Amino acid sequence: MNLLKYRLAQVVSATNFLPNRSEQRLRRVLMYHSVVKDADIATKAPDIYSISETYFTSHVDLMAQQNETGQRKVVSLEDSDPYGVSITFDDGYNDTLTIAAPLLLAKNLPFHVFVTPENIISGSPQYLSSDGLIALSKIPGATIGAHGFSHQHLNRLSPKEITDELKSSKEWLENKIGKSVLTMSYPHGAFNSLVEEIASSVGYMFAATSNWDCYKVGTQPLRIPRIDIWNLDNRNALQQKLDGRWDWLKKINKSQNLDTSNK
Ligand SMILES: [Zn+2]
Repeated sequence: MNLLKYRLAQVVSATNFLPNRSEQRLRRVLMYHSVVKDADIATKAPDIYSISETYFTSHVDLMAQQNETGQRKVVSLEDSDPYGVSITFDDGYNDTLTIAAPLLLAKNLPFHVFVTPENIISGSPQYLSSDGLIALSKIPGATIGAHGFSHQHLNRLSPKEITDELKSSKEWLENKIGKSVLTMSYPHGAFNSLVEEIASSVGYMFAATSNWDCYKVGTQPLRIPRIDIWNLDNRNALQQKLDGRWDWLKKINKSQNLDTSNK
C-alpha cells in the first residue's frame, strides 16, 4: 500500500461508522512482522511490514495502558477470554527478539511469534539465530508457534507436501526450544479446508490467518482472523483498528478474495 492509498484509507476509517459496542469488544489479534530502528527505517525503502521502533513503542504504551485499566486486556492467543487483544509476529525476525520483546516484557504483555524454520537455518542476520530463537522462547509471556517449514503457499501443495511442511516445522521448533508447539500462522495467509484439516491432524490447536476480522473465541480456532498492522500505523491508527474503524477492509478482503499478506 503506498502513502496515497494509506492516507485515503485513513480518511475512510476516520469517518467510518463504528461497529456496535459488542463487536468492538470482541477479541482482536494483531499481526506484526518486523520492528525496525528509526534510523534504519530512514535509510531503507518503505516496507509495509516494517514498523518503526517509535510507532511500535507507542502501540505497546497504548495497549499497556488499556490493559491496566481493564478497558482492553492483552491476552495470549489461546486464552479463553472472548474480549481483549492478542499480539502476534510472523516469520521470526531477529528484531522480534532485540526490539519488540524487551518492550513487551517491560509491560508484561504476552505475545506469539510464528517462526519459519528455514529462515533460521538460512543464517541471514535478518532472522533469529538458533540461539536467538531459544532465548526468545524463554522470555516470560513469549510463545513460539510455527509458520510452515519453508514459507510456502500451503493451499498450492499436495496433501503429502502440506503434511511435511506442517509436521516438520512443528517438530523442528519443538526440538529447538524443548516445548510443545501448538499454534501456527499460515504463510502468506494461504490456507483452505484441506490445509486446516491437516493442521489439526498433526496437532495444532490454533492457527492464525491473514483475513481481516475480529476473532470470535471458541469458534474456528484453526482460522483465526487477524488485524494487519502496517508501517504507517501510528498510535492513533492502532486505536482506530482496535475500535473497528478499519473493519471495512474485511469486505474488500472477502469480495476480491485478496491475499493481502506477502509475508
Ligand atoms: Zn510469513
